[in-house]
Amino acid sequence: MPTTADLQSFIFSKAYINGQWVSAESGQHFSVLNPADGTEITQVPDMGATDTRIAIEAAEKAQAEWSSLTAKQRSQYLQQWADLIEENIDVLALLLTTEQGKTLAQSQGEVRSSINYIRWSAHEAMRINGEVLPSSRSSHFEYALKLPVGVVGAITPWNFPNSMIARKVAPALAAGCAVVIKPAEDTPLSALALAHLAAAAGFPAGVFNVVTAQHGQAVGAELCANPIVRKLSFTGSTAVGKLLYEQCAPTVKKLSLELGGNAPFIVFDDADLDLAVEGALTMKFYNSGQACISVNRLFAHESIHDAFVKKLTERLQGYTLGVGTDEKATHGPLINQQALHKVTEIVDTAKQQGAQVTIGGTARTDLGPNFFDFTVLTEATPGMELFNTEIFGPVVPVYRFSTDDEVLALANDTNYGLAAYFYTENTSRTFRFGRALEYGMVGVNTTSFVSETMPFGGVKESGLGREGSQQGIEEFLETHYVCIQNKD
Ligand code: ADP
Repeated sequence: MPTTADLQSFIFSKAYINGQWVSAESGQHFSVLNPADGTEITQVPDMGATDTRIAIEAAEKAQAEWSSLTAKQRSQYLQQWADLIEENIDVLALLLTTEQGKTLAQSQGEVRSSINYIRWSAHEAMRINGEVLPSSRSSHFEYALKLPVGVVGAITPWNFPNSMIARKVAPALAAGCAVVIKPAEDTPLSALALAHLAAAAGFPAGVFNVVTAQHGQAVGAELCANPIVRKLSFTGSTAVGKLLYEQCAPTVKKLSLELGGNAPFIVFDDADLDLAVEGALTMKFYNSGQACISVNRLFAHESIHDAFVKKLTERLQGYTLGVGTDEKATHGPLINQQALHKVTEIVDTAKQQGAQVTIGGTARTDLGPNFFDFTVLTEATPGMELFNTEIFGPVVPVYRFSTDDEVLALANDTNYGLAAYFYTENTSRTFRFGRALEYGMVGVNTTSFVSETMPFGGVKESGLGREGSQQGIEEFLETHYVCIQNKD
């Protein structure tokens, strides 16, 4: 376990632009709070459009040099960055827990996943191949290069403050792009610590910039409007994603959007119930339900409904809510007061609309300001408000169904299309639902599929583009076609 002094040495109170630790041009700051107890960890600069412009211009200058390095050189920088993150994994995990709340074990897992994304991108950097094209004329030689898209803006959320940066920035850097990152206001410290390690890894000044701000609007508007930025990669709410989409139209920027979800989790009558219970627990309560791929609607076949709910509730009694640094805690608090109020309201409304609380159902103010109990709601019906609400908390509503056609229609009855899960032992169902669920990612008898090797992303209003796999790098590349005529 790192000491308080180790942690302090990883807490940065300035933003990082053009290789320098800097304050906001306005001189303004804002507080970063520990969600477990509401205490202030530090203050960071509250930056705006001017600071963002300075960062973008620094990135543009750095981009020229960075993109002219060989793929192997860029790969070596990334590996060096990953090595330093790995050396400091314990303190980075503690920092993550301190600003975000999840348990140390979950934070370790998140930082490990960042390392995996960075190493994957370091390898992929060396496989950015173009194409020699079969020309339609024997006198011509034609080829297509893959070139970096240009300066990248990255806006990240608070639920995975470390790995969301790695997932965007590592492939961008691998492709030859310089980046300007705007981390979430609740969790800017992991981003700044990663910038510190990027500096230690020797990335040239201006390649990796972090702009902090209390409200995303001004920084976001500049990242969208500035023509130097050629690509914006955003993870966050659907409402903000739609706004950024609009704001990027005037400069026809490339966009990746990882937005909200409304994940169905279907337990068929032939499912392995123990496996399904474990899957539901993992993917509903991981990060206290604060993930866009969290189970949001659990559909249990009427013949196994009661047995499933009983097992789920029993297993939940073995979970312990608590401060993330406490070894006994299996799950931590919600991110802030606003989140707590939202989850409380969702549960209260569902109760008024007829849902039954099987376990939990209330805030746990005895533990701290932002804790909400593990909650199972039964008798949930599609007419209830929470059917179309991204819960983002440790609350699982259970819906009954009787036929395959009925549950398929219910599962697809949403504007979202990020992740879906189902549990069955039946091969025909596996093929039918594997294909027919209108989601970017489908887990069959599993919920743990997120890794650097898979294309993470959604369809419908859950977003555009993919992170991870080879597609994750493609997002930061342009195709550049060249046609040469042989005059002889
Ligand atoms: P959440 O509701 O999960 O906090 P948001 O979409 O509000 O999701 O936040 C995700 C990220 O988007 C954060 O970094 C936040 O600061 C940023 N953000 C919020 N509003 C805007 C905006 N208008 N323009 C650009 N970024 C924004």
